[in-house]
Amino acid sequence: MKFADICGQKDLKEHLQRAIRHEKFSHAYIISGEKDSGKMMLAEAFAAALLCEDRRGEDSCGVCRSCRQAEHRNHPDIRYLMHEKPNTIGVDEIRRDINDDIVIKPYASAYKIYIVDEAEKMSVEAQNALLKTIEEPPGYAVIFLLTTNANAFLPTILSRCVTLEVKPLSVAQTKEYLMKECRIPDYQAEVWASFSQGNLGKAIRLASSEEFNGFKTQLTDTLRRIGQMDSWEIAQAAGELEEQKNAIQDYLDLMTIWFKDVLLYKAAGSEDRLVFQDEAMIIRNQAKSASYQGIERILESVEDAKRRRSANVNLNLTMMLLLLTIKENIA
Ligand SMILES: [Zn+2]
Repeated sequence: MKFADICGQKDLKEHLQRAIRHEKFSHAYIISGEKDSGKMMLAEAFAAALLCEDRRGEDSCGVCRSCRQAEHRNHPDIRYLMHEKPNTIGVDEIRRDINDDIVIKPYASAYKIYIVDEAEKMSVEAQNALLKTIEEPPGYAVIFLLTTNANAFLPTILSRCVTLEVKPLSVAQTKEYLMKECRIPDYQAEVWASFSQGNLGKAIRLASSEEFNGFKTQLTDTLRRIGQMDSWEIAQAAGELEEQKNAIQDYLDLMTIWFKDVLLYKAAGSEDRLVFQDEAMIIRNQAKSASYQGIERILESVEDAKRRRSANVNLNLTMMLLLLTIKENIA
């Protein structure tokens, strides 16, 4: 992974590359940001550049032996903490993979880099064990703690690490990346970029997920027909949604984007800035037949459904109420 291949994250890249150029860096970093936001890419780009045998400027060359090993994740001096249990990182893993290992000098280069993914899963004992190492690390070691939640760390850990926060990209940057690098057509890239709110990893994952594409089709089918559906069909649609429990949050988020489109069309009278470009005709019709108040009611009931879902309220009933509210206000 090269810094040059990472989309966006200008400030963080500059910070880390400056550190490499002057060979002045912290021995412990926290990189915090959402799932799939590029935390691992940044840590790996740093590791590859620092260890590169033919470094030019402050990025890795991508072709030397060290870079190839880094790319295949079998570089002897880039160490990943192995997760043994899915939900917690215990003290034994920290001792085995970091504390006992870090005293051994680098094998092939001048530095040794440790990467702990999902570091928020460290137990308090594990953090305390790590603390001793972070307080006095050997000069050749750099530790990266990657996390979705830096608040999970003890204050003593936080105070000894440099924290770097991964910021979401703009929707336009995400869209551009999807179109250029993933060859996704314009109108689809717009949907995934808006949906992922600048989380590029999420955007790529969703855009290439067949399951999620199927889901999006199901949503547009339902919304297209909802004005003509009778109560029995609505009950059936609610039942189908209930079966896909895990994806329901995504489904509701897509609905919010859809009805914001309806609202936008009603206000602006133009298709130019719609996210669901390929459904512009239906969105136009819905915008014409619904009132502002009706669209507001729909958006509120989508938010309401999100709250009910996280409160574990009867999902079938929640979805049925939501679909009925939409039908009532859209027709
Ligand atoms: Zn190299």
